[in-house]
Amino acid sequence: MSFSFQSVDQRKLAYTPSKIVCVGRNYLEHIQELENEIPDEAVFFIKPGTALSHLCQTCEIPTYRGEIHYECELALLITQKLTRASAEHSLDAVGGYGLALDLTLRQLQSELKEKGLPWEKAKAFDGSCPLSPLKMVDGNFSSRHRFNFSINGKLRQTGDSRLMIRDSAHLLAEISQWFTLMPGDVVLTGTPAGVGILSEGDELELVLDGTVVCRSTVVKGR
Ligand code: ZN
Repeated sequence: MSFSFQSVDQRKLAYTPSKIVCVGRNYLEHIQELENEIPDEAVFFIKPGTALSHLCQTCEIPTYRGEIHYECELALLITQKLTRASAEHSLDAVGGYGLALDLTLRQLQSELKEKGLPWEKAKAFDGSCPLSPLKMVDGNFSSRHRFNFSINGKLRQTGDSRLMIRDSAHLLAEISQWFTLMPGDVVLTGTPAGVGILSEGDELELVLDGTVVCRSTVVKGR
């Protein structure tokens, strides 16, 4: 399915994303928050391309499915095929970056984890990856970024790429050993601490490197 990515300067880029690759634990504080173990190997999971939606103005969430948690993450748009790449070359494949919410039905995820079942229903449902407009880059992606996520004027999450266990270059290289990344694919680089519940009516503000990239109101989805 085609998805029209938007840039911060109002351009539209249509791709057919095959997948969104996410990293489960990439910030130490968030691991401690969920009382998880620090992984020796990165934990990856995939959302289908149909999980993408636009975050700005309104953000639809399926409240009837249970409590929805936000995880605000730096998102990378892949615009060149990347397969078994080295960290040295992997950043060449990044064509844009922005912020995304990795929406999670946390209670369902816990139940599925407990039973040793896959998490797809909790993480990969339609609209589970709302994405901000992107800052486009042309082969010169710098991996140093900071972001803030606020709800109703209150700062909830602060991300700083320097605090990632794996930086973007190593993350992309490692992902590409397992999953070939195709143009239009999106990589989420993991959530910092501060995850919590998203409710109908919440006013969201996402700031990337000092610029507001998105404001949105949470509405009940179908
Ligand atoms: Zn996440």
